[in-house]
Amino acid sequence: MENKKPEWLRVRYNMREVNAIYALADGLELNTVCRESGCPNIGKCSKCGSATFMILGKKCTRNCRFCDVDCGAPEAPDPDEPRRVADAVKRLRLTHAVITSVTRDDLPDGGASAFAAVIREIREMTSATVEVLIPDFRGDREAIDTVIRESPDVLGHNVETVKRLYPVARPQAVYERSLGVLKYVKDNYPSAMVKTAFMVGLGETRDEVRELMRDVRETGCDLLTAGQYLQPSEDHLNVVEYVTPETFADYAADARKMGFLGAVCDPLARSSYLAADLYRDALAVREKNGETR
Ligand code: SF4
Repeated sequence: MENKKPEWLRVRYNMREVNAIYALADGLELNTVCRESGCPNIGKCSKCGSATFMILGKKCTRNCRFCDVDCGAPEAPDPDEPRRVADAVKRLRLTHAVITSVTRDDLPDGGASAFAAVIREIREMTSATVEVLIPDFRGDREAIDTVIRESPDVLGHNVETVKRLYPVARPQAVYERSLGVLKYVKDNYPSAMVKTAFMVGLGETRDEVRELMRDVRETGCDLLTAGQYLQPSEDHLNVVEYVTPETFADYAADARKMGFLGAVCDPLARSSYLAADLYRDALAVREKNGETR
């Protein structure tokens, strides 16, 4: 496939602002998904008062074929990391903090207690709203409860791609297990905004994407983001298609028709793209509908 990126995927941003975030993160020995995954939106998000911190190290115990995060033997969790994350949220005056992690299948609770500690620290040190993007914890309900108990404002878990592509794209994940995580959270923590994200351009059909969106909506999931897959390196899956902005607009319209409270479907969208706006807009829709869940 012609590897030249179409015009709509070319972004320009002010590196000075971006470097300021990186410098602070380095100073606090913190990792950001923004850098680890080479996110094209760093320039925009930093302006919107949100950033995404990646906890529990830089090494993932899985090896998804679309992901730029290193895989291998991870370091031991750092008990001081939650305080440093909260400190960074405070110093950056973030109004909405997004916390994610590599997948730690090596830890008994998959890292759930670290997520819980970070939420507590941010709550103690700032008034920021907190969004967590959790791995599937291998479907461990107790681990999910550990995070739910800290009442994050948004609780997300990514389905990433359509069911047919799981064996090639994320072989250590299970489609039904990921849907199960979303459903379990919504059933047991109805007031939370539950969110998921997926990427397109890996060879999925339009119908498969709509089936995925229906499956996700049936779990009670409220928020959705969908973006274009970009190949991190030659060692990763090839881009099969650069999906047009018009098709993304169709997906956004489908999401609204399916009853999602909010959806960002855009070639540049990533899990936490415009996360603060998506959350606040969805809250307003929920209030307008007189709903509490
Ligand atoms: S589990 Fe997450 S961090 Fe790990 S390789 Fe897959 S997408 Fe990347």
